[in-house]
Amino acid sequence: MKQANKVTRSALQAMPKIDLHRHLEGSLRLETLLEIATEYKLGYPHRTVEELRAFVQIINDRPEHEVFLGKFSVLRHFYRSPEIIRRVAYEAVADAAADNVQYLELRFSPQALSRIANFDLEKVTDWVIFATETAAKDFNIEVNLIITLLRHESVELATRVAEIAYARADKGIVGLDLAGDEVMFPPAPFIPLFKKAKEVGLGVSIHAGEWTDAGRVDEAMEQLCAERIGHGVRVSESREIASKAIEKGITFEVCLTSNLHTGVVQHLSQHPLKRMLDFGLLVTLNTDDPGVSNISLTDEYIIAVEQLGLGYDDLRMMTLNAAKVAFLPENGRSRLVSHFENIL
Ligand SMILES: [Zn+2]
Repeated sequence: MKQANKVTRSALQAMPKIDLHRHLEGSLRLETLLEIATEYKLGYPHRTVEELRAFVQIINDRPEHEVFLGKFSVLRHFYRSPEIIRRVAYEAVADAAADNVQYLELRFSPQALSRIANFDLEKVTDWVIFATETAAKDFNIEVNLIITLLRHESVELATRVAEIAYARADKGIVGLDLAGDEVMFPPAPFIPLFKKAKEVGLGVSIHAGEWTDAGRVDEAMEQLCAERIGHGVRVSESREIASKAIEKGITFEVCLTSNLHTGVVQHLSQHPLKRMLDFGLLVTLNTDDPGVSNISLTDEYIIAVEQLGLGYDDLRMMTLNAAKVAFLPENGRSRLVSHFENIL
């Protein structure tokens, strides 16, 4: 069903969507966290979700990436049992489906989910694969998984996690990602891991040009084999690097509210998304961390319309861009593109 040019909240909610950049660890329900805090006596307030909210969501925090990443350090304390891991993975998919996301690439760090309870990294990965496959069937949504390496952790640990991803290429994992503090930890030590990812057929998405400059986008394209850049919004500061990205067909996974919360932009109306589109860059619109930022993809579409002046045609184009660069085999991508061309 075509939505014509209506851009009301209900039309945007009903619009079939794709999210290529969403972290499982940033997608936890407050109600679930409250239950876990109560059951495991975690030392966080656990009488109401409102008491807990400030610990795990951005409320009135300083807009800095260290503060944003700090929420994930708190969230790690909630991964206490295999049942919890399976539950949060299942719920993350259910929540995406409820927002009419029809194709989701959910990324996660097995090492983050394992840290507190010292779970086996392979087992954690398989719990997430199983839970998301179950949820995908239950909620009629297509889901693929990306494993995220963290640049502020050791290369040795990243190598172990990358091996788990390589072994599951075509068996539940479709891509490899690099995230974490890009200011303090340059990506160079991780380059061989991403070269290998390409060799075994995984897609590569690299967080870059978010908290640093356009040069990091260049580095991700040239050295880390990135096909897609997480955020990458600072590319808007360099026409030269933007042109190179267009030439190479690199796609940008833009997440508006996340950029506000980490201080990349001071106000959403100043976000460079429009400038990126005007440059002719391939851009997609995503959530990053709907739980931490307390948003849905529909909310992000509304911001794009109300704060940045985009219209239905822009949202449609970004959705089709996402279908074209999904980490799927060629025939899967074509099927996804045709599906969204028909329903949007
Ligand atoms: Zn991200």
